Amino acid sequence: MIKAVTGTNDILPAEILRWNYLEEIVKKTFAQFNYKEIRTPIFELTQVFARGIGEATDIVSKEMYTFIDRSGDSLTLRPELTASVVRAFVEHSLDKKQGLNKLFYFGPMFRQERPQAGRFRQFHQFGAEALGSHDALVDAEMIIIAYDIIAKLGLKNLEVKINSLGVPNSRKNYKNVLRSYLNEHLDNLSEESLKRLETNILRVFDSKDERDKSVMKSAPLLLDYLDSESIEHFEKVKSALQRANVPYQVDAALVRGLDYYTHTTFEVVSGSVGSQSALCGGGRYNGLVKELGGPDLPGVGFAAGVERILLACENEKSFEAEEERIDVFIITIDKTLQSLSFQTALSLRRSGLIIETDYLSRSVKAQMREANKLNAKFVLFIGGDEFANDEVVLKNMATSEQKNINKENLVEIINKLREN
Ligand code: AMP
Repeated sequence: MIKAVTGTNDILPAEILRWNYLEEIVKKTFAQFNYKEIRTPIFELTQVFARGIGEATDIVSKEMYTFIDRSGDSLTLRPELTASVVRAFVEHSLDKKQGLNKLFYFGPMFRQERPQAGRFRQFHQFGAEALGSHDALVDAEMIIIAYDIIAKLGLKNLEVKINSLGVPNSRKNYKNVLRSYLNEHLDNLSEESLKRLETNILRVFDSKDERDKSVMKSAPLLLDYLDSESIEHFEKVKSALQRANVPYQVDAALVRGLDYYTHTTFEVVSGSVGSQSALCGGGRYNGLVKELGGPDLPGVGFAAGVERILLACENEKSFEAEEERIDVFIITIDKTLQSLSFQTALSLRRSGLIIETDYLSRSVKAQMREANKLNAKFVLFIGGDEFANDEVVLKNMATSEQKNINKENLVEIINKLREN
């Protein structure tokens, strides 16, 4: 037997209901905030991600599925979508059509990570990017959308963490302060953190290593080094969140891995999914559009992991997704009438009803069992004595009431019954 690749999942019909339920909430919420959907290719030239995410990040340095295609181009399966969306934004000059572009997406991402619960090699994200505004209210809007979607799914055990990384200039001063502090503790840092000291110093805060954690407990915090513009921006975000009833906590160690973040960063974390607890993360990035060859325009966005959110929902039993019931199961009593059943099924479907019929030459009893299993609202018997008078028998499964109907009047009668 050939199995699916490690770290990839089949989403079987029984689970699709939950996916569709989530996707509906995602699309509806984005529509309410006037975000438009964007779909970009599954793969891009590698440089889109190398430049757009940053060479020093784990994603680019360790996790990308990169390959050389037959014409010698280096291509990469998208590990996230911000860089792709910004690439498309620049390529199509979307800024010329709209002052503020509010875009959302939903789709698969690929990272060669060590698979574990909540961490896969193909996983799905929904997310958004708003390109063109410096307003801190857009940062707040992003956090509110992410929180609202997750809360609409019924999740309770949540924490919204926010932080500010300030503007690059104030960060530069702070990085020097942090570097001096870490230089005094080199003996107590992990190898990984010693490397990050050179490449991406803020990320030492992300380390899970106990030695690093105890050094970082007393490290100076960027929040204490913000300039007045950055503080004002952060205060505006916080008071908008307060007014929106989004419960948040400031986490001064929340730096997130990407080089291009400016001002706000945030994460929504669930207490119901074990160690991979981040359901979504995002923030403001003011240098990225320019980095990818576009005008110097600001952006803010987030990405949320669908598998992890659904896992949290399952663990909290936060919603039930119900399948739409079959309206009518057509039972063919007389096998010679199979093509009439097929035709009847078709005309009822074309009138908008949900219909199933038998394709396994089953006995009437077995067809009835199937109708019960599908929880059909009605069964329609085609064949038997009634058919000599051009009549078929419609049975209401809830009341067991039966009605003889002329086969020409079917659609109208069933539609009427279905409305009641
Ligand atoms: P990131 O793009 O790394 O900030 O991730 C945003 C969100 O995507 C995370 O909070 C997770 O919910 C989800 N995510 C990231 N990587 C994975 C993965 N390998 N498997 C499943 N979900 C992931």
